[in-house]
Amino acid sequence: MTANLLDFDLEGLAVFCDGLGEKRFRATQLFRWIHQRGMSNFDDMSDLAKSLREKLKVHTHVSALPVLSQQFSKDGTIKWLFDVGAGDAVETVFIPEDDRGTLCVSSQAGCAIGCRFCSTGHQGFSRNLSTAEIVSQLWFAEHFLRKHLNQTDRVISNVVMMGMGEPLQNYAALVPALTTMLDDHGYGLSRRRVTVSTSGVVPMITRLSQDCPVALAVSLHAPNNTLRDHLVPLNRKYPLDELLEECTRYLAKAPRDFITFEYCMLQGVNDQISHAHELVQLIQKHAAQGLRCKFNLIPFNPFKASGLLRSEDATVAKFASVLLAAGFVTTVRKTRGDDIDAACGQLAGDVKDRTGVVDRIAQQRAIPIRLLDASA
Ligand code: SF4
Repeated sequence: MTANLLDFDLEGLAVFCDGLGEKRFRATQLFRWIHQRGMSNFDDMSDLAKSLREKLKVHTHVSALPVLSQQFSKDGTIKWLFDVGAGDAVETVFIPEDDRGTLCVSSQAGCAIGCRFCSTGHQGFSRNLSTAEIVSQLWFAEHFLRKHLNQTDRVISNVVMMGMGEPLQNYAALVPALTTMLDDHGYGLSRRRVTVSTSGVVPMITRLSQDCPVALAVSLHAPNNTLRDHLVPLNRKYPLDELLEECTRYLAKAPRDFITFEYCMLQGVNDQISHAHELVQLIQKHAAQGLRCKFNLIPFNPFKASGLLRSEDATVAKFASVLLAAGFVTTVRKTRGDDIDAACGQLAGDVKDRTGVVDRIAQQRAIPIRLLDASA
């Protein structure tokens, strides 16, 4: 089997080229052809020696994931469904805004965390994506969009690892993918504009701060452990105080001076004024130790299996006003791509559950969440 060059960051490609008897600057040239110019045909890489091109044709290839479908929303959002083999598919979403173009990238086929409000979590988990499969979502989208929009400049300015999967549970593949996104010979994205979103895998947040500190978003969704245990089951392993202490430490290395806390607003579950006050108390306790954060309130995108409802706009506004009054920068996420099921928490792809996550979630569903809330 030949190597897919999308699997290598520049350092990895230099080592690979060394194995072919080629100097490091050749790896840099090759890396730029692939990522900056979107080339996959070695014959088009005109400044590479013919002998190198011949070696590359024998030993390597540049292959993006096959596209199963491409949907265009009326608000400009585009969603791709990519085939990752064995009956699994993952989704990638491009969200254009006036001042930026954001790509939401998947890191796993499915997800093993099983958050109650997440469509991906309800699909179960199949497998980790490789570095090539993560990078190829950006490679394909960037070069597709340049052609589609008829422009030569970069289209994608921001990447959020918020698609399908928990990126920090696929750490070995994630880091070279991030490195490629940040590399000036690759996509040249700023660390501030690449965000890893995690449900709170504490030890891997520590490692990320050492290996590749990019912007961090944490899926909080609850102001206390009782409620969070049921909304984000990973909380049982890494409870709130432990998670928030790690977030505080991460700030020493982070490219931004705050962590973003995502909070999905679920009607009657976590959206009451009492929850907002409890959240303020929790964060203020950690702010005294140096935690700086912003809140992003996310309107829930209901799907049948969840049994949950979206909070009323007025409820979200009241919740936000409590956080704002306490001095926290708070935004309410605009829903995008609703008409093509591309909004946050709606990415379901098509995954064969190979680890029984679906059964575990079904058991959790047997516990009425409103009763949990009342006892919190
Ligand atoms: S919210 Fe993220 S971590 Fe939770 S189930 Fe969905 S994809 Fe996994």
